[in-house]
Amino acid sequence: MDFESYIRDVADFPKPGVTFKDITPLLNNTKALTAASDALLNMLEGVHVDKVVGVDSRGFIFAPMLASKLGAGFIPVRKKGKLPYKTLSEPYDLEYGTDILEIHSDAIKKGEKVLVHDDVLATGGTAQAVCKLVEKLGGEVVQCNFLIQLAFLDGAEKLNGYPIRSLLRY
Ligand code: IMP
Repeated sequence: MDFESYIRDVADFPKPGVTFKDITPLLNNTKALTAASDALLNMLEGVHVDKVVGVDSRGFIFAPMLASKLGAGFIPVRKKGKLPYKTLSEPYDLEYGTDILEIHSDAIKKGEKVLVHDDVLATGGTAQAVCKLVEKLGGEVVQCNFLIQLAFLDGAEKLNGYPIRSLLRY
């Protein structure tokens, strides 16, 4: 499947000078949606996964599908103030300033194998913060997987040591 043909470049979004990779054409096409989900699963061949963490908010699209097919649980990591129960927090850098990601404090049991999934890996700050949350709870990150890796932003350097897989690299 030519996944690239289902990714739309949107110029100057969310602000001037940024070209945003828009995955909604891929989501809108049932064949591409199914093939993408299958391809993400294939990246996990031979890897045991107890929990799949999806990152607020586009990580929530594929992560529950993957969890269901892997026989794993789904865990949302959300921006500060959105989760209702007790949380652990981790700050991460934005281009200007910082933000905070949170996970429920009982979401992962010690030693559980965790897949971290998001739509796009850019600078890596988001995924790095998620991995820290997983490890604070005693989980082991067995893979970080993405639909798209913006390789020119060197996000992989921040995720040094974790296996990284992506469907598309730019
Ligand atoms: P990072 O922390 O710089 O790696 O940014 C990754 C986060 O920003 C992910 O949660 C993505 O959803 C979002 N993101 C960054 N660039 C894009 C893009 O071009 N398209 C869609 N999401 C993006």
